[in-house]
Amino acid sequence: MESQKKLDPQPPHETEESKIIAQIDFNNIDYKEMALYAYNHCDLCGGPLEFFHVGNFMDLTMEEEKYCPTCNIHSDKTWHKIQ
Ligand SMILES: [Zn+2]
Repeated sequence: MESQKKLDPQPPHETEESKIIAQIDFNNIDYKEMALYAYNHCDLCGGPLEFFHVGNFMDLTMEEEKYCPTCNIHSDKTWHKIQ
């Protein structure tokens, strides 16, 4: 009967074969820039989106629809309050 291997609680030691391939400085990430990029670009292809707006000044809302010309896909419509 085989005995179970004990899990090593220590992280793997750095060896000559391990190399740093990327470093991320979490203190200097511009989250606003990331959010704006995600809002303005297609989730599928990453291409720039086109926006269409229709204002309704009776109930002070703005209807917004996004369109990706590359994927030929329209997003769901969203409504924003006009202030
Ligand atoms: Zn697209």
